[in-house]
Amino acid sequence: MSGLLVMKFGGTSMGSAERIRVAADICTEQKSGRPVLAVVSAMSGVTDLLLNTLRHAEGGDEAGIGSNIEQLLKRHLDACAELALGEGVSEGVRDLVADFRRLAHGMLMLGERPPRSVDEAVAIGERLTALLLSEFMESRGIRARAINGSDVIVTDAVFGNATPLMDATRKKAQQVVKPLLDGGIVPVVTGFNGATADGRPTTLGRGGSDFSASILAAALDASELWIWTDVDGIMSADPRSVPDARVLDSLTYSEAAELAYNGAKVLHPRTLAPLIDRQIPVWSKNSFHREHPGTRIVSKVDAPPGPRAVTSMANVALVSLEPANAAVSGTRLMARALEALADANAEVLALTSSSYRQTFCFLVRKEELAEAMKSLEADLALELTHGYLKPIEVDENVGLLAVVGEGMRGTPGLAGRIFSAISKEDVNIIAIAQGSSELTISVVVRRDGLERAIRAVHGECR
Ligand code: ADP
Ligand code: ASP
Ligand code: MG
Repeated sequence: MSGLLVMKFGGTSMGSAERIRVAADICTEQKSGRPVLAVVSAMSGVTDLLLNTLRHAEGGDEAGIGSNIEQLLKRHLDACAELALGEGVSEGVRDLVADFRRLAHGMLMLGERPPRSVDEAVAIGERLTALLLSEFMESRGIRARAINGSDVIVTDAVFGNATPLMDATRKKAQQVVKPLLDGGIVPVVTGFNGATADGRPTTLGRGGSDFSASILAAALDASELWIWTDVDGIMSADPRSVPDARVLDSLTYSEAAELAYNGAKVLHPRTLAPLIDRQIPVWSKNSFHREHPGTRIVSKVDAPPGPRAVTSMANVALVSLEPANAAVSGTRLMARALEALADANAEVLALTSSSYRQTFCFLVRKEELAEAMKSLEADLALELTHGYLKPIEVDENVGLLAVVGEGMRGTPGLAGRIFSAISKEDVNIIAIAQGSSELTISVVVRRDGLERAIRAVHGECR
Protein backbone atom coordinates (compact mmCIF):
# COMPACT_ATOMS: atom_id res chain seq x y z
CA MET A 1 0.00 0.00 0.00
CA SER A 2 1.66 3.18 -1.06
CA GLY A 3 2.68 5.51 1.71
CA LEU A 4 1.91 3.02 4.48
CA LEU A 5 4.01 3.47 7.61
CA VAL A 6 4.34 0.42 9.86
CA MET A 7 5.51 1.26 13.39
CA LYS A 8 6.50 -1.28 16.02
CA PHE A 9 6.52 -0.35 19.69
CA GLY A 10 8.75 -2.52 21.89
CA GLY A 11 8.23 -3.62 25.50
CA THR A 12 9.58 -0.45 27.11
CA SER A 13 7.65 1.69 24.61
CA MET A 14 4.47 -0.08 25.81
CA GLY A 15 5.63 -0.50 29.42
CA SER A 16 3.27 1.88 31.26
CA ALA A 17 0.31 4.18 30.77
CA GLU A 18 2.72 7.04 30.17
CA ARG A 19 4.56 5.14 27.42
CA ILE A 20 1.27 4.06 25.80
CA ARG A 21 0.28 7.72 25.71
CA VAL A 22 3.52 8.55 23.89
CA ALA A 23 2.94 5.70 21.41
CA ALA A 24 -0.56 7.02 20.73
CA ASP A 25 0.87 10.51 20.18
CA ILE A 26 3.39 9.15 17.70
CA CYS A 27 0.66 7.27 15.80
CA THR A 28 -1.59 10.32 15.77
CA GLU A 29 1.19 12.57 14.52
CA GLN A 30 2.16 10.22 11.68
CA LYS A 31 -1.42 9.42 10.73
CA SER A 32 -2.07 12.98 9.72
CA GLY A 33 0.09 12.44 6.62
CA ARG A 34 -0.27 8.76 5.70
CA PRO A 35 -1.88 5.46 6.69
CA VAL A 36 -0.35 3.94 9.82
CA LEU A 37 -0.27 0.41 11.18
CA ALA A 38 1.02 -0.23 14.70
CA VAL A 39 2.56 -3.49 15.93
CA VAL A 40 2.91 -3.84 19.68
CA SER A 41 4.99 -5.89 22.11
CA ALA A 42 3.78 -6.89 25.55
CA MET A 43 4.67 -4.52 28.40
CA SER A 44 8.34 -4.99 29.35
CA GLY A 45 8.79 -8.02 31.58
CA VAL A 46 5.33 -9.41 30.86
CA THR A 47 6.39 -12.19 28.48
CA ASP A 48 8.89 -13.40 31.08
CA LEU A 49 6.16 -13.27 33.72
CA LEU A 50 3.79 -15.30 31.53
CA LEU A 51 6.42 -17.92 30.74
CA ASN A 52 7.34 -18.14 34.40
CA THR A 53 3.68 -18.68 35.29
CA LEU A 54 3.47 -21.55 32.82
CA ARG A 55 6.54 -23.13 34.38
CA HIS A 56 4.80 -22.89 37.78
CA ALA A 57 1.80 -24.58 36.16
CA GLU A 58 3.86 -27.44 34.83
CA GLY A 59 5.51 -27.84 38.23
CA GLY A 60 2.16 -27.96 40.06
CA ASP A 61 2.70 -24.68 41.90
CA GLU A 62 -0.81 -23.25 42.08
CA ALA A 63 0.14 -20.45 44.48
CA GLY A 64 2.88 -19.30 42.09
CA ILE A 65 0.34 -19.11 39.27
CA GLY A 66 -2.04 -17.11 41.43
CA SER A 67 0.43 -14.46 42.52
CA ASN A 68 1.82 -13.98 38.99
CA ILE A 69 -1.67 -13.59 37.56
CA GLU A 70 -2.50 -11.03 40.20
CA GLN A 71 0.55 -9.00 39.14
CA LEU A 72 -0.41 -9.31 35.49
CA LEU A 73 -3.95 -8.13 36.14
CA LYS A 74 -2.90 -5.27 38.41
CA ARG A 75 -0.35 -3.87 36.00
CA HIS A 76 -2.86 -3.70 33.14
CA LEU A 77 -5.80 -2.49 35.22
CA ASP A 78 -3.59 0.26 36.67
CA ALA A 79 -2.70 1.31 33.13
CA CYS A 80 -6.43 1.31 32.19
CA ALA A 81 -7.17 3.57 35.13
CA GLU A 82 -4.28 5.93 34.41
CA LEU A 83 -5.36 6.18 30.78
CA ALA A 84 -8.91 6.89 31.97
CA LEU A 85 -10.30 4.02 29.91
CA GLY A 86 -13.86 2.93 30.70
CA GLU A 87 -15.16 -0.18 32.45
CA GLY A 88 -15.60 -1.93 29.09
CA VAL A 89 -11.83 -1.91 28.55
CA SER A 90 -11.10 -3.14 32.10
CA GLU A 91 -13.59 -5.92 31.38
CA GLY A 92 -11.62 -6.72 28.21
CA VAL A 93 -8.41 -6.90 30.26
CA ARG A 94 -10.07 -9.23 32.77
CA ASP A 95 -11.32 -11.48 29.96
CA LEU A 96 -7.85 -11.80 28.43
CA VAL A 97 -6.29 -12.51 31.83
CA ALA A 98 -9.02 -15.10 32.44
CA ASP A 99 -8.09 -16.76 29.11
CA PHE A 100 -4.51 -16.89 30.31
CA ARG A 101 -5.57 -18.35 33.66
CA ARG A 102 -7.61 -21.03 31.91
CA LEU A 103 -4.63 -22.05 29.76
CA ALA A 104 -2.28 -22.06 32.78
CA HIS A 105 -4.73 -24.20 34.76
CA GLY A 106 -4.96 -26.63 31.87
CA MET A 107 -1.19 -27.04 32.10
CA LEU A 108 -1.42 -27.45 35.87
CA MET A 109 -3.87 -30.34 35.41
CA LEU A 110 -1.72 -31.95 32.74
CA GLY A 111 1.58 -31.37 34.52
CA GLU A 112 3.10 -30.35 31.19
CA ARG A 113 3.30 -27.41 28.80
CA PRO A 114 2.18 -28.38 25.30
CA PRO A 115 4.03 -26.00 22.95
CA ARG A 116 0.95 -24.88 21.06
CA SER A 117 -0.84 -23.92 24.29
CA VAL A 118 2.27 -22.09 25.45
CA ASP A 119 2.20 -20.04 22.25
CA GLU A 120 -1.46 -19.24 22.67
CA ALA A 121 -0.96 -18.27 26.33
CA VAL A 122 2.17 -16.22 25.93
CA ALA A 123 0.71 -14.02 23.17
CA ILE A 124 -1.84 -12.72 25.66
CA GLY A 125 0.78 -10.15 26.77
CA GLU A 126 0.59 -8.58 23.30
CA ARG A 127 -3.18 -8.88 23.14
CA LEU A 128 -3.39 -6.83 26.32
CA THR A 129 -1.24 -3.98 24.99
CA ALA A 130 -3.02 -4.01 21.60
CA LEU A 131 -6.29 -3.56 23.49
CA LEU A 132 -4.94 -0.71 25.63
CA LEU A 133 -3.30 1.23 22.80
CA SER A 134 -6.23 0.89 20.39
CA GLU A 135 -8.79 1.82 23.05
CA PHE A 136 -6.73 4.76 24.20
CA MET A 137 -6.49 6.08 20.64
CA GLU A 138 -10.24 5.63 20.21
CA SER A 139 -10.81 7.57 23.44
CA ARG A 140 -8.82 10.40 21.88
CA GLY A 141 -10.93 10.36 18.72
CA ILE A 142 -8.43 8.43 16.54
CA ARG A 143 -10.02 5.42 14.95
CA ALA A 144 -8.07 2.29 15.84
CA ARG A 145 -8.73 -1.45 16.07
CA ALA A 146 -6.90 -4.19 18.00
CA ILE A 147 -6.03 -7.13 15.75
CA ASN A 148 -4.70 -10.48 16.88
CA GLY A 149 -1.56 -11.35 14.88
CA SER A 150 -2.82 -14.93 14.70
CA ASP A 151 -5.61 -13.68 12.41
CA VAL A 152 -3.09 -12.23 9.95
CA ILE A 153 0.33 -13.90 10.09
CA VAL A 154 0.24 -17.45 8.74
CA THR A 155 3.18 -19.61 9.79
CA ASP A 156 4.54 -23.13 9.75
CA ALA A 157 3.94 -25.31 12.82
CA VAL A 158 7.29 -24.83 14.58
CA PHE A 159 5.81 -23.66 17.88
CA GLY A 160 7.93 -21.14 19.71
CA ASN A 161 10.00 -20.26 16.64
CA ALA A 162 7.66 -20.29 13.67
CA THR A 163 8.43 -19.07 10.14
CA PRO A 164 5.88 -17.03 8.19
CA LEU A 165 4.33 -18.34 4.99
CA MET A 166 4.44 -15.10 3.07
CA ASP A 167 1.90 -15.77 0.31
CA ALA A 168 -0.78 -16.86 2.74
CA THR A 169 0.07 -13.96 5.07
CA ARG A 170 -0.18 -11.48 2.22
CA LYS A 171 -3.67 -12.77 1.39
CA LYS A 172 -4.80 -12.52 5.01
CA ALA A 173 -3.30 -9.06 5.39
CA GLN A 174 -5.24 -7.91 2.32
CA GLN A 175 -8.45 -9.39 3.73
CA VAL A 176 -8.15 -8.43 7.37
CA VAL A 177 -5.95 -5.33 7.57
CA LYS A 178 -6.23 -3.51 4.25
CA PRO A 179 -9.94 -2.62 4.59
CA LEU A 180 -9.18 -0.99 7.95
CA LEU A 181 -6.35 1.06 6.46
CA ASP A 182 -8.59 2.06 3.54
CA GLY A 183 -11.19 3.17 6.07
CA GLY A 184 -8.71 5.45 7.87
CA ILE A 185 -8.50 3.14 10.90
CA VAL A 186 -5.18 2.38 12.62
CA PRO A 187 -4.85 -1.41 12.99
CA VAL A 188 -2.99 -2.20 16.22
CA VAL A 189 -1.65 -5.69 15.61
CA THR A 190 -0.16 -7.93 18.30
CA GLY A 191 3.51 -8.60 17.65
CA PHE A 192 5.16 -11.96 18.34
CA ASN A 193 2.36 -14.32 17.34
CA GLY A 194 0.79 -15.97 14.33
CA ALA A 195 -1.09 -19.16 13.56
CA THR A 196 -0.76 -22.11 11.21
CA ALA A 197 -3.04 -22.23 8.16
CA ASP A 198 -5.40 -24.47 10.15
CA GLY A 199 -5.52 -22.00 13.01
CA ARG A 200 -3.11 -23.40 15.62
CA PRO A 201 -1.43 -20.54 17.55
CA THR A 202 2.32 -20.02 17.09
CA THR A 203 4.98 -17.49 18.11
CA LEU A 204 7.97 -16.21 16.21
CA GLY A 205 10.69 -16.55 18.88
CA ARG A 206 11.65 -14.22 21.72
CA GLY A 207 11.85 -10.62 20.64
CA GLY A 208 9.67 -11.60 17.67
CA SER A 209 7.56 -8.44 17.49
CA ASP A 210 10.24 -6.82 15.30
CA PHE A 211 9.77 -9.75 12.93
CA SER A 212 5.96 -9.43 13.02
CA ALA A 213 6.33 -5.79 12.00
CA SER A 214 8.62 -6.57 9.09
CA ILE A 215 6.37 -9.42 7.93
CA LEU A 216 3.39 -7.06 7.89
CA ALA A 217 5.37 -4.26 6.24
CA ALA A 218 6.34 -6.67 3.44
CA ALA A 219 2.86 -8.21 3.16
CA LEU A 220 1.26 -4.78 2.79
CA ASP A 221 4.00 -3.19 0.64
CA ALA A 222 4.64 -0.51 3.24
CA SER A 223 6.82 2.42 2.32
CA GLU A 224 8.70 2.39 5.64
CA LEU A 225 9.07 0.49 8.90
CA TRP A 226 9.91 2.34 12.11
CA ILE A 227 10.96 0.30 15.13
CA TRP A 228 10.52 2.25 18.36
CA THR A 229 12.72 1.10 21.23
CA ASP A 230 14.64 2.46 24.24
CA VAL A 231 17.97 3.45 22.65
CA ASP A 232 18.75 6.10 20.02
CA GLY A 233 19.18 3.55 17.25
CA ILE A 234 21.56 0.77 16.35
CA MET A 235 24.83 1.41 18.11
CA SER A 236 28.44 0.37 17.57
CA ALA A 237 27.93 -2.04 20.53
CA ASP A 238 25.35 -2.78 23.20
CA PRO A 239 25.51 0.34 25.39
CA ARG A 240 24.91 -1.88 28.43
CA SER A 241 28.33 -3.45 28.02
CA VAL A 242 30.20 -0.70 26.15
CA PRO A 243 29.47 2.71 27.69
CA ASP A 244 31.13 4.66 24.86
CA ALA A 245 29.18 2.92 22.08
CA ARG A 246 28.00 5.35 19.37
CA VAL A 247 24.74 5.55 17.48
CA LEU A 248 25.17 4.68 13.80
CA ASP A 249 23.39 6.98 11.31
CA SER A 250 22.87 4.23 8.81
CA LEU A 251 23.57 0.56 8.15
CA THR A 252 23.01 -1.78 5.25
CA TYR A 253 20.43 -4.55 5.53
CA SER A 254 23.27 -7.07 5.55
CA GLU A 255 25.14 -5.32 8.34
CA ALA A 256 22.03 -5.02 10.48
CA ALA A 257 21.10 -8.65 9.81
CA GLU A 258 24.60 -9.88 10.75
CA LEU A 259 24.45 -7.85 13.96
CA ALA A 260 21.04 -9.21 14.83
CA TYR A 261 22.05 -12.82 14.08
CA ASN A 262 25.13 -12.42 16.22
CA GLY A 263 23.22 -11.32 19.29
CA ALA A 264 22.42 -7.57 19.04
CA LYS A 265 19.12 -7.69 20.87
CA VAL A 266 17.98 -4.40 19.35
CA LEU A 267 16.63 -6.36 16.35
CA HIS A 268 15.15 -9.86 16.18
CA PRO A 269 17.51 -11.89 13.94
CA ARG A 270 14.98 -12.48 11.18
CA THR A 271 13.57 -8.94 11.00
CA LEU A 272 15.30 -7.81 7.83
CA ALA A 273 14.76 -10.80 5.58
CA PRO A 274 11.20 -9.95 4.43
CA LEU A 275 12.17 -6.34 3.62
CA ILE A 276 15.24 -6.73 1.46
CA ASP A 277 13.54 -7.79 -1.79
CA ARG A 278 11.05 -4.98 -1.55
CA GLN A 279 13.70 -2.51 -0.41
CA ILE A 280 11.55 -1.22 2.42
CA PRO A 281 13.65 1.16 4.54
CA VAL A 282 13.76 0.59 8.30
CA TRP A 283 14.39 3.16 11.02
CA SER A 284 15.36 2.19 14.55
CA LYS A 285 14.20 5.00 16.85
CA ASN A 286 13.98 5.89 20.53
CA SER A 287 10.47 6.54 21.86
CA PHE A 288 12.09 8.21 24.90
CA HIS A 289 14.01 10.62 22.66
CA ARG A 290 11.78 11.31 19.70
CA GLU A 291 13.76 14.20 18.29
CA HIS A 292 16.76 11.94 17.61
CA PRO A 293 16.53 10.70 14.00
CA GLY A 294 17.67 7.14 14.82
CA THR A 295 19.40 4.66 12.52
CA ARG A 296 18.36 4.14 8.91
CA ILE A 297 18.70 0.64 7.46
CA VAL A 298 18.76 0.45 3.67
CA SER A 299 20.53 -1.50 0.94
CA LYS A 300 23.42 0.91 0.39
CA VAL A 301 25.03 3.50 2.64
CA ASP A 302 27.79 6.05 2.23
CA ALA A 303 29.97 4.93 5.15
CA PRO A 304 33.59 3.97 4.36
CA PRO A 305 34.26 0.21 4.36
CA GLY A 306 35.44 -1.29 7.65
CA PRO A 307 34.17 -2.46 11.02
CA ARG A 308 30.98 -0.73 12.14
CA ALA A 309 29.83 -2.57 15.24
CA VAL A 310 30.74 -5.28 17.72
CA THR A 311 28.23 -7.70 19.16
CA SER A 312 28.21 -10.80 21.34
CA MET A 313 26.27 -13.83 22.50
CA ALA A 314 26.81 -15.13 26.00
CA ASN A 315 24.29 -17.97 26.14
CA VAL A 316 26.07 -20.35 23.82
CA ALA A 317 27.87 -23.68 24.09
CA LEU A 318 30.65 -25.21 22.05
CA VAL A 319 30.16 -28.85 21.08
CA SER A 320 33.29 -30.69 19.89
CA LEU A 321 33.53 -34.02 18.08
CA GLU A 322 36.67 -35.98 17.42
CA PRO A 323 37.01 -39.31 15.62
CA ALA A 324 38.76 -41.93 17.79
CA ASN A 325 40.77 -43.35 14.93
CA ALA A 326 42.01 -42.23 11.55
CA ALA A 327 39.90 -44.76 9.65
CA VAL A 328 36.76 -42.78 10.35
CA SER A 329 35.85 -40.12 7.81
CA GLY A 330 35.63 -36.78 9.61
CA THR A 331 33.58 -35.35 6.77
CA ARG A 332 30.99 -38.10 7.03
CA LEU A 333 30.82 -37.65 10.78
CA MET A 334 30.34 -33.93 10.31
CA ALA A 335 27.52 -34.56 7.83
CA ARG A 336 25.81 -36.93 10.27
CA ALA A 337 26.28 -34.49 13.15
CA LEU A 338 24.83 -31.61 11.15
CA GLU A 339 21.85 -33.73 10.22
CA ALA A 340 21.29 -34.57 13.89
CA LEU A 341 21.39 -30.87 14.73
CA ALA A 342 18.92 -30.07 11.97
CA ASP A 343 16.57 -32.76 13.31
CA ALA A 344 16.75 -31.10 16.72
CA ASN A 345 15.98 -27.69 15.15
CA ALA A 346 19.24 -26.40 16.61
CA GLU A 347 20.94 -23.62 14.73
CA VAL A 348 24.69 -23.80 14.16
CA LEU A 349 25.99 -20.33 14.98
CA ALA A 350 29.60 -21.01 14.04
CA LEU A 351 31.52 -24.02 12.85
CA THR A 352 35.26 -24.69 12.72
CA SER A 353 37.23 -27.77 11.84
CA SER A 354 40.77 -29.03 11.71
CA SER A 355 41.63 -31.00 8.61
CA TYR A 356 44.55 -32.90 10.13
CA ARG A 357 42.87 -34.37 13.20
CA GLN A 358 39.45 -34.34 11.58
CA THR A 359 38.03 -32.72 14.70
CA PHE A 360 35.32 -30.15 14.46
CA CYS A 361 33.27 -28.03 16.78
CA PHE A 362 30.16 -25.97 16.49
CA LEU A 363 28.49 -23.34 18.52
CA VAL A 364 24.82 -23.64 19.47
CA ARG A 365 22.48 -21.65 21.69
CA LYS A 366 22.34 -22.93 25.28
CA GLU A 367 18.59 -23.25 25.14
CA GLU A 368 18.95 -25.58 22.16
CA LEU A 369 21.81 -27.59 23.68
CA ALA A 370 19.81 -30.30 25.48
CA GLU A 371 17.82 -31.21 22.35
CA ALA A 372 20.95 -30.96 20.19
CA MET A 373 22.87 -33.37 22.46
CA LYS A 374 19.98 -35.81 22.64
CA SER A 375 19.79 -35.91 18.88
CA LEU A 376 23.59 -36.14 18.39
CA GLU A 377 23.91 -38.98 20.90
CA ALA A 378 21.02 -40.87 19.33
CA ASP A 379 22.20 -40.45 15.74
CA LEU A 380 25.85 -41.21 16.55
CA ALA A 381 25.10 -43.97 19.09
CA LEU A 382 26.80 -46.69 17.05
CA GLU A 383 30.01 -44.72 16.55
CA LEU A 384 30.08 -43.80 20.23
CA THR A 385 29.49 -47.30 21.57
CA HIS A 386 31.95 -48.93 19.16
CA GLY A 387 34.64 -46.41 19.98
CA TYR A 388 34.90 -44.74 16.55
CA LEU A 389 34.06 -41.41 18.07
CA LYS A 390 35.46 -39.97 21.30
CA PRO A 391 32.83 -38.89 23.84
CA ILE A 392 31.23 -35.64 22.65
CA GLU A 393 32.59 -32.67 24.58
CA VAL A 394 30.53 -29.67 25.57
CA ASP A 395 31.99 -26.41 26.80
CA GLU A 396 29.38 -24.06 28.21
CA ASN A 397 31.91 -21.58 29.48
CA VAL A 398 32.26 -19.74 26.17
CA GLY A 399 30.89 -16.66 24.43
CA LEU A 400 30.76 -15.45 20.84
CA LEU A 401 32.04 -12.07 19.78
CA ALA A 402 31.42 -10.74 16.28
CA VAL A 403 32.71 -7.70 14.44
CA VAL A 404 30.50 -6.56 11.58
CA GLY A 405 31.04 -4.13 8.73
CA GLU A 406 30.58 -4.00 4.97
CA GLY A 407 33.89 -4.27 3.09
CA MET A 408 35.82 -5.42 6.17
CA ARG A 409 37.67 -8.03 4.19
CA GLY A 410 39.43 -5.28 2.35
CA THR A 411 40.83 -3.75 5.54
CA PRO A 412 44.41 -5.02 5.78
CA GLY A 413 45.52 -6.38 9.15
CA LEU A 414 42.10 -6.04 10.73
CA ALA A 415 41.84 -9.66 11.90
CA GLY A 416 45.29 -9.37 13.49
CA ARG A 417 44.31 -6.19 15.29
CA ILE A 418 41.15 -7.84 16.62
CA PHE A 419 43.00 -10.92 17.87
CA SER A 420 45.76 -8.93 19.53
CA ALA A 421 43.24 -6.60 21.23
CA ILE A 422 41.62 -9.71 22.70
CA SER A 423 44.88 -11.32 23.80
CA LYS A 424 46.10 -8.08 25.40
CA GLU A 425 43.16 -8.52 27.76
CA ASP A 426 44.43 -12.03 28.58
CA VAL A 427 41.28 -13.55 27.12
CA ASN A 428 41.68 -16.96 25.58
CA ILE A 429 40.54 -17.33 21.96
CA ILE A 430 38.99 -20.77 21.54
CA ALA A 431 37.84 -20.72 17.94
CA ILE A 432 37.70 -18.36 15.00
CA ALA A 433 35.07 -18.45 12.31
CA GLN A 434 36.11 -15.98 9.70
CA GLY A 435 35.40 -15.90 6.05
CA SER A 436 32.03 -17.55 5.67
CA SER A 437 30.48 -14.12 5.61
CA GLU A 438 32.04 -11.19 3.79
CA LEU A 439 31.19 -8.83 6.55
CA THR A 440 31.67 -10.66 9.84
CA ILE A 441 34.57 -11.96 11.86
CA SER A 442 33.40 -14.18 14.73
CA VAL A 443 35.57 -15.28 17.61
CA VAL A 444 34.70 -17.74 20.39
CA VAL A 445 36.31 -16.76 23.68
CA ARG A 446 36.18 -17.83 27.34
CA ARG A 447 32.88 -16.63 28.78
CA ASP A 448 34.43 -14.80 31.74
CA GLY A 449 36.53 -12.70 29.36
CA LEU A 450 33.74 -11.88 26.91
CA GLU A 451 32.84 -8.42 28.23
CA ARG A 452 36.50 -7.35 28.40
CA ALA A 453 37.08 -8.67 24.90
CA ILE A 454 34.10 -6.71 23.52
CA ARG A 455 35.30 -3.45 25.04
CA ALA A 456 38.84 -4.04 23.79
CA VAL A 457 37.72 -4.88 20.25
CA HIS A 458 35.29 -1.94 20.21
CA GLY A 459 38.13 0.36 21.25
CA GLU A 460 40.42 -1.09 18.56
CA CYS A 461 37.83 -0.76 15.78
CA ARG A 462 36.87 2.83 16.51
P1 ADP B 1 12.34 -3.65 22.61
O1 ADP B 1 11.55 -4.13 23.78
O2 ADP B 1 12.06 -2.23 22.25
O3 ADP B 1 12.25 -4.58 21.44
P2 ADP B 1 14.92 -4.72 23.30
O4 ADP B 1 15.29 -4.75 24.74
O5 ADP B 1 14.50 -5.99 22.65
O6 ADP B 1 13.84 -3.59 23.10
O7 ADP B 1 16.16 -4.13 22.46
C1 ADP B 1 16.75 -2.90 22.82
C2 ADP B 1 18.02 -3.16 23.62
O8 ADP B 1 18.97 -3.79 22.76
C3 ADP B 1 18.76 -1.90 24.07
O9 ADP B 1 18.25 -1.43 25.30
C4 ADP B 1 20.20 -2.35 24.14
O10 ADP B 1 20.62 -2.62 25.46
C5 ADP B 1 20.24 -3.66 23.37
N1 ADP B 1 21.28 -3.68 22.31
C6 ADP B 1 22.11 -4.73 22.08
N2 ADP B 1 22.95 -4.44 21.09
C7 ADP B 1 22.66 -3.20 20.66
C8 ADP B 1 23.19 -2.36 19.64
N3 ADP B 1 24.20 -2.74 18.84
N4 ADP B 1 22.64 -1.14 19.47
C9 ADP B 1 21.61 -0.75 20.25
N5 ADP B 1 21.07 -1.50 21.24
C10 ADP B 1 21.59 -2.70 21.45
N1 ASP C 1 7.04 -9.91 24.03
C1 ASP C 1 7.87 -10.81 23.25
C2 ASP C 1 9.17 -11.11 24.00
O1 ASP C 1 9.41 -10.55 25.06
C3 ASP C 1 8.12 -10.31 21.87
C4 ASP C 1 8.84 -8.97 21.79
O2 ASP C 1 8.93 -8.24 22.77
O3 ASP C 1 9.33 -8.66 20.70
O4 ASP C 1 9.92 -11.92 23.54
MG1 MG D 1 13.10 -6.49 21.16
